[in-house]
Amino acid sequence: RGGPKNLPIAEVFIDEDECEEKKRIKHKPRLVVLGGGWGGVALLKELNAEDYHITVISPTNYFLFTPMLPSATVGTLELRSLVEPIRRIISRVHGHFIRARAEDIEFSDKLVEVSQLDHQGKEVRFYVPYDKLVIAVGSVTNPHGVKGLENAFFLKDIDDARKIRNRVIHNLELACLPTTPDDERKRLLSFVVCGGGPTGVEFAAELYDLLNEDLTRHFPRLLRNEISVHLIQSRSHILNTYDETVSKYAEDRFSRDQVEVLTNSRVKEVRPDKIIFTQKQEDGKLTTKELPVGFCLWSTGVSQTAFCQRLAKKLASFQTNRHALETDTHLRLNGTPLGDVYAIGDCSTVQNNVADHIITFLRTLAWKRGQNPETLHLHFSDWRQVAMDVKKRFPQAVNHLKRLDKLFAEFDKDQSGTLDFGELRELLNQIDSKLTSLPATAQRAHQQGNYLAHKFNKMARLSDGLSANDIRDGDLDAAVYKAFEYHHLGSLAYIGNSAVFDLGDGWSLAGGLWAVYAWRSVYFAQSVSFRTRSLMAMDWAKRGVFGRDTDL
Ligand code: FAD
Ligand code: MG
Ligand code: MG
Ligand code: MG
Ligand code: MG
Repeated sequence: RGGPKNLPIAEVFIDEDECEEKKRIKHKPRLVVLGGGWGGVALLKELNAEDYHITVISPTNYFLFTPMLPSATVGTLELRSLVEPIRRIISRVHGHFIRARAEDIEFSDKLVEVSQLDHQGKEVRFYVPYDKLVIAVGSVTNPHGVKGLENAFFLKDIDDARKIRNRVIHNLELACLPTTPDDERKRLLSFVVCGGGPTGVEFAAELYDLLNEDLTRHFPRLLRNEISVHLIQSRSHILNTYDETVSKYAEDRFSRDQVEVLTNSRVKEVRPDKIIFTQKQEDGKLTTKELPVGFCLWSTGVSQTAFCQRLAKKLASFQTNRHALETDTHLRLNGTPLGDVYAIGDCSTVQNNVADHIITFLRTLAWKRGQNPETLHLHFSDWRQVAMDVKKRFPQAVNHLKRLDKLFAEFDKDQSGTLDFGELRELLNQIDSKLTSLPATAQRAHQQGNYLAHKFNKMARLSDGLSANDIRDGDLDAAVYKAFEYHHLGSLAYIGNSAVFDLGDGWSLAGGLWAVYAWRSVYFAQSVSFRTRSLMAMDWAKRGVFGRDTDL
């Protein structure tokens, strides 16, 4: 027992009769990973096997391949094909798995407080000690303070997908009963998706495909025109973080497919039989509307887990972001001793350094011209250069920076046609404060996990050989490895038998069936194991031959 709360401390023992590999890691630094999702698994996949004594703590014992989750809800893919047991993943690094939830961290004692329900269903708590800790606990669905969400479905994990699948099929079955009155049938067959981001859009598209491709075969009694799919979006466009051409393509596609897209609309309440929302009219007035609903999916973005909120509060003077844990560019949690605690994936954000980046760019520009940066006057053409550079480096910001050209005019207070240093500084401040941080995507979590793994491998290799002089201010991370840099590889969303791509940099593609295959192959390559890949390939082949499984 020990620590501030005097809880049991769980030391993971390695007995004398364990295998040789395990005995070798016995005295290695203890690396504890919280979460077995995209970030955690990317880390575990790349770590060298015998450098650390690894423990993974997570309430779920499998990794979930989330990009395919929308397809699993309607039976395009089998649920088991989307998961990979954590124990299988960590066996390569001889790691331990503790199925429990992290509740708190004692940073000065280097202890994670975890909870689990015991055999009697009673909560037990204990500490797990660490030398290095990686927080990769992901995010939770954002309720936006809306009433009645207990009547809605979410799409975060495999249980959610199973529930959705059962409900959709059940509604179809009820609608088929000869005793179901007409208006009740219409309600049962009204499917509403709240949220016009990639998850909502992909789910609506998958659902539409199911209803069109397989329904007539399995439910011949149902009339296609009694079924309706609606998508409610608070912004003026769906997929609004994507390039404009992409969101336009998606909207056109949906209107052709008779998926009703309700933009500028905010859900107020989800009742068991109807949804109440307000829609902003052209004249700016709000009108309250209702939709009968048989099934409602709530997918309006993510927010911070209770655990991360607790940590942020604890480190309040270093943590100012309300949505994510802030790290430095080496992914170390701000406010904790250097090299102890890292945060990656959805739960984290790297502190913005766009302004720094632009300043570096301007220094180079001034240097090329043989000028002093302080006296540099920036012409519009220079600004375009800066803007393009920023868009390339921070593609997730493109949406916020669409108006970069206008900003120039706005900040050229004396209308001289150039920006002086003071005007520029004001502009940069505005950009920094407006910019959303890194996107909450598998792509980003994966890159961060990989980055940490390579760094930890290198640290283990070098730490013995380095002298204190090599390590400035005890900053081993910076001494051995470069800062994290995010590479945007493009976003993808699936819209009914076609996929839209947003490759950043103003490139976007939207296409027919070929795009579906390109889309699949991207995720194929990212998929974690040959086992998972084979299972998915079999599912797709099966669907091609036999159609979807609509029961089960
Ligand atoms: P997760 O992958 O969510 O992993 C979090 C892990 O932490 C889980 O194992 C969880 O059980 C565990 N955990 C939670 N709380 C605790 C705790 N207190 N203590 C210990 N462990 C805890 N991204 C894309 O790039 N492309 C896509 O096409 C895409 N499609 C998506 C579709 C859906 C339906 C969803 C839900 C997400 C999609 N995403 C996509 C987003 C992507 O899944 C996330 O960005 C990614 O999972 C983030 O990785 P992570 O490691 O931060 O968190
Ligand atoms: Mg993770
Ligand atoms: Mg995951
Ligand atoms: Mg995370
Ligand atoms: Mg000026």
